Amino acid sequence: MNLSISGLSKTYPNGVAALRNVSLTISSGIFGLLGPNGAGKSTLMRILATLQAPDSGTVHLGELDLLEQKYEVRRQLGYLPQEFGLYPRISAESMLNHLAVLKGIRNTKNRREVVQAVLHKTNLFLDRKKNLGGFSGGMKQRFGIAQALLANPQLLIIDEPTAGLDPTERNRFHNLLSELAEETIVILSTHIVDDVKELCCDMAILLNGEILLQAPPLAAINAFAGKVYQKSIGKSEMPLYRQQYRVISEKLFLGQPVIHVLSDTHPRNGFRECTVDLEDVYFAQVIEQNMSRAERKYHAV
Ligand code: ADP
Repeated sequence: MNLSISGLSKTYPNGVAALRNVSLTISSGIFGLLGPNGAGKSTLMRILATLQAPDSGTVHLGELDLLEQKYEVRRQLGYLPQEFGLYPRISAESMLNHLAVLKGIRNTKNRREVVQAVLHKTNLFLDRKKNLGGFSGGMKQRFGIAQALLANPQLLIIDEPTAGLDPTERNRFHNLLSELAEETIVILSTHIVDDVKELCCDMAILLNGEILLQAPPLAAINAFAGKVYQKSIGKSEMPLYRQQYRVISEKLFLGQPVIHVLSDTHPRNGFRECTVDLEDVYFAQVIEQNMSRAERKYHAV
C-alpha cells in the first residue's frame, strides 16, 4: 500500500506558511521526515493523522481519500504525537484495556488478547502492572506505540519520538520500529539525522514548509560523493573560510574547529576529501535553501 501526498499546503491564521505544496509518495518500511524545529513536520503529521485539515492538496492511503474518508482511515491508523499525557496512577495494562474499549474492541476475550499482544510487542509485558507515572522516558514512548498498535494499523505516524531518550532506550525503540515496519508504513518525523540514517529506507528533508529532497538516504549520500571536503582550522579563521567557501558545517574535534565545505573541485589549501555523511547532505540542503531564500529576498528589494 502507498501513501500519496500531493500539493499539500497549510497557512495558519497568523500568516505562517507551515506547508508549501508538499508532495511525497511513501511505501512500506520506515520513512524519515527530517527537518529542524519549525520546519512543518508536526503540521504534516497532524494532517496525516486526520486531526487537522490542509488548505489545499490531496492525500490517499491506498484507495482511501485520507482527507475525506477520515473515519475509515482512522481505523487503519496509529499516531504517536510529540507530546502525550499519561494518567500517572493507572497501570499500563488497565490503560490499554480502557483505550481498547474506546477503539471499539468490545469482546472481552478479544480485547485481552490484543492488549497482551501489544504489551509483548513493545516489550512492556513484565511492566504491565506498573503505574504509568513510574515509567522511564523510553517506556513511555513504547507505551505510546503500544496504544497506537491497538488498532493494528496499516499506517503508523510517529512525531519526534527519540528526543530525550538515552542511548539504550533509543536503540530499543529503533529495534521496535524496524520490527513494526515489516508489516506497516511507518512515518517518523525527527530533527535527528542519525535516527534517519540508522532506520529509514527512504526519507525527505523538510525546511520552511518545503520538501528539499526525497530519496533513500544512501542515494542522497552518493549524490554528494567527491564533493565534500574537510579541514581543521583556527577559531579566528572561521569568518574568512565562510566568505571563501561553501561551508556546510562547523564542528569541534578535540576543541578544534573542523569545517566541511561543498565543492565540485578539490579546494586544495590543506583540505582533504571526506566520506560523505547524511549530516553533510542535510546541512548542504538546508544551507542551499537558506541562500536561495536570501537571494530571492535580495532581488525582491
Ligand atoms: P515542526 O514540527 O517541524 O517543529 P510545526 O509544524 O510545529 O514544525 O510548525 C511549523 C511552523 O508553523 C512554525 O513556524 C510554527 O511556529 C507554526 N505553527 C505551528 N502550529 C501553529 C498554530 N497552531 N498556529 C500558528 N502557527 C503555528
